[in-house]
Amino acid sequence: MGRVALVTGGSRGIGRAIAMALAEDGHRVAVNYANRVEAAAEVVAAIEKAGGRAVAVPGDVSDEDQVEAMFDQVQAELGPVEILVNNAGITRDGLLLRMGADDFDRVLAVNLRSAFLCTKRALRSMVRARWGRIISISSVAGIGGNAGQANYAASKAGLIGFSKSVAKEVGSRGITVNVVAPGFITTDLTDHLPGPVKQSSLDRIALGRFGEPHEVAALVAFLASDAASYLTGQVVAVDGGMAL
Ligand code: NAD
Repeated sequence: MGRVALVTGGSRGIGRAIAMALAEDGHRVAVNYANRVEAAAEVVAAIEKAGGRAVAVPGDVSDEDQVEAMFDQVQAELGPVEILVNNAGITRDGLLLRMGADDFDRVLAVNLRSAFLCTKRALRSMVRARWGRIISISSVAGIGGNAGQANYAASKAGLIGFSKSVAKEVGSRGITVNVVAPGFITTDLTDHLPGPVKQSSLDRIALGRFGEPHEVAALVAFLASDAASYLTGQVVAVDGGMAL
């Protein structure tokens, strides 16, 4: 059965693949974007070309007023959000001794505060409907840490504690809350990494290759489905065996 899904940061990379996969499963998809209106419009056009229904919704997900406005727009155009995917994320890498407090705060705001704001807002209608799916995109860095990414790893570990707590709070209302932790996936986020960093990641991946966005999206689509009804509070790594 088609539901209403909101994917934050859905205009490119993993978010784009998630939006496409949810649409393929028959869901109506709101594609959130921060700045790139053309990229979001392209995702909407691709979904509609395939026979699906989608809308682009602007909003900086770290800003409470913008989150409120975004949910109001989705509700008006598609209906109340039933599947929330907290995907938007940024990096501002650097060794801790050189990391500015603004780099720490911004990463925490975009990666973690956003999930707090969006999840809280989404729960309003999910609790009433007694059905909901909340899926947050963490990272293997949030499980094992990563030198040069103390801010990012803290935000991604924070998503895990946050999600497990909310899973306990809302489980009795038919709402599941899960976390997907990708390893190294080929997107804009990883494109700019220096060759030696890529090679050392590759050396640790059992499957011997980087992942593709659609390989993360397939898991998110499953977690969003009725088939995943007894799965909550979990962290599932999609990392080609990197964390082994
Ligand atoms: P990406 O940079 O291609 O996409 C990130 C998306 O988030 C973009 O669409 C961007 O516009 C959006 N975004 C950034 N700030 C925003 C804000 N304030 N409000 C709304 N949207 C905002 O990166 P990606 O690789 O597709 O990453 C998607 C998610 O997956 C991120 O949370 C990232 O941390 C996580 N992740 C990625 C990898 C990887 O290897 N690529 C690994 C682990 C986790």
